[in-house]
Amino acid sequence: MNRKNFNNDTFIKLHSFSQLTYDEIEKAMNISRAEVQKLYKSCKNEISYMQGIRNKFNKKRFLKEFMFKDFNEFYDWYESQPKSCCYCGITQEDALETKVYDNLTRKTRGKSLEIERVVTFPKEKNLYTYKNCRLACHVCNNAKSDFIDVEDFKFIAKGINDFWSKKLNRKIDLPTEVYDTFSLKKEKIDK
Ligand SMILES: [Zn+2]
Repeated sequence: MNRKNFNNDTFIKLHSFSQLTYDEIEKAMNISRAEVQKLYKSCKNEISYMQGIRNKFNKKRFLKEFMFKDFNEFYDWYESQPKSCCYCGITQEDALETKVYDNLTRKTRGKSLEIERVVTFPKEKNLYTYKNCRLACHVCNNAKSDFIDVEDFKFIAKGINDFWSKKLNRKIDLPTEVYDTFSLKKEKIDK
């Protein structure tokens, strides 16, 4: 790794993970304020990407069902997820292209893929954990609500997949991971 990348990585660690102030970063990296500002400029895209993930974390972190132990664990989870709906396969970019969300009255919804808890009942399993969370589009998240299990929701997700595919005029791939992982039938056969 060259020095520039090393400095950028260190800066992002200190700024976006440890959330140090400029003063603290100056001291930790032993550099001047001007150099800190320069690093900030050159890392702008990464910082705004990280901020988006932190906003998602902050929105949920005080819920009693939220089991991620800290931002780092949440970030790891987020990075491990495909950036498409776990149920119907749509990406946020494609969803926006259809303009389906333009008529939403709650303007906070449909802004990005939403954090979805796959298992929602019994109530004590309805948790935000590394294993139980996926990313879902607003349509699927809304439709599944908290009373349909993943196996049954597959029928609905196929319809939602058709809906997006028709709007986009091209076939969106239906994902398999969430159905394979959480299939109840499979669990029964395995037992
Ligand atoms: Zn979806």
